[in-house]
Amino acid sequence: MKNVALIYPNKFKGGISCLAMHILYYHLNKYHDINCNMYFIENYEEIRNNNAIIITLQYENDYFNVVNIITKLRQNNPNAIFIGGGPCAMANPLPLANFFDAFVIGEIEGTNIMHELIHGKTDLDGVYYPKFDGVNKEDFRRIKRIYPKKITTEDYPTNQFTHPSGAYGNAFLLEIGRGCPRRCKFCMAKSIYYPPRFRKLDDLKYLVDEGLKHTKTNKIALISPSVGDYKHIIELCQYIKEKNENISISPSSLRADTIKDELLKILNLKTLTIAPEAGSERLREYIKKDISYEDISNALDIAKNNKIDKIKLYYMVGLPTETKEDIEEIITLSKNIKKNFRKVEISVNPFIPKPYSEFENEPFNLESKNNIKYIEKSLRKSNVKVNYENFNAMVIQCVLCRGGAELGNLLKNYNKPIQFLKYLKKNDMLSDYLM
Ligand code: SF4
Repeated sequence: MKNVALIYPNKFKGGISCLAMHILYYHLNKYHDINCNMYFIENYEEIRNNNAIIITLQYENDYFNVVNIITKLRQNNPNAIFIGGGPCAMANPLPLANFFDAFVIGEIEGTNIMHELIHGKTDLDGVYYPKFDGVNKEDFRRIKRIYPKKITTEDYPTNQFTHPSGAYGNAFLLEIGRGCPRRCKFCMAKSIYYPPRFRKLDDLKYLVDEGLKHTKTNKIALISPSVGDYKHIIELCQYIKEKNENISISPSSLRADTIKDELLKILNLKTLTIAPEAGSERLREYIKKDISYEDISNALDIAKNNKIDKIKLYYMVGLPTETKEDIEEIITLSKNIKKNFRKVEISVNPFIPKPYSEFENEPFNLESKNNIKYIEKSLRKSNVKVNYENFNAMVIQCVLCRGGAELGNLLKNYNKPIQFLKYLKKNDMLSDYLM
């Protein structure tokens, strides 16, 4: 029997809402010779003498925790193999290359790759072994990503642990698709989960039936990069409501051009969230967001007709070719929307050039910080709430998503984000990663 620890390297609240945790937990416990348990930042220190430690890498900013976790657990689990996976592993695991024995590059459904890795097999397709493969970008990018051609009901966790403190409340997570048919140039998800795959409607109905049977829940969270692009979305939502009209459905964000009156009627949302990303038509076209002013305006009309009185908008600043006018248009668009809705909240964050996106070689713009502050100040009187992430955390995210194995020692020696950033600044290293 192999004892396996599956770790989410941050709080329980985020981990319990992470579908990858549920998929892996379900997948691994299917094997009779594996006993897998889930852990989070709050309880990982209990792990002793396990045979394998698997850490899902969902966000670069978790790397500080990851390094701490591995350093501690190597002592208490001397014979364990340390395996990384998840979107950050698929995009660029190099800053963590010297901490892990292996990274799974891709999606594990329909394979026995995890089982084989845990049992010590080497030379597996879709696995990056830094020690043998090398730790340069070219070495890593030679590894061929694995993924199932179709996503089916096999390996889908229908008995999910839920908790009210989870990021989606105690929702049952229903993945309707993976990958995205759109072409936004800043997007990493569409490349690392290529090709776009949606589940069959019948499969989703089956998963809804099973999920509601086995999971303690009052809500279904629809998971997909672009939920509204699923052609059976209305039928699926109708099916859920027919099964139990008290179940609420949370579609995460919807593209403005996929919002239909019929869909909003079924969803009965209180808040509509859309992501124009850029304020101006010109910039939205340039980044290939493919959402026009008319699409946004139609979506808002439909929201209004459905008595939605709160709108949330996501924007990015610092996008390639951005000018002062593009920033002004974020302000104007937000103000105009506020005229028609009780509450408008916008989230503005810096564009980060992510690996495998079309913009991966574009610079990160440090001026974005001032532009975010400027937007916040300009919208204060209009009563539009402006939210943004900590700017230093975004700079660090950029460094870690683009950097190489040379960052490993820094992560270990300067294990607080602020110390790490100070070191890079003091040694004139920051521009190496931002330009
Ligand atoms: S940003 Fe959203 S809509 Fe655009 S390609 Fe990525 S996942 Fe698709």
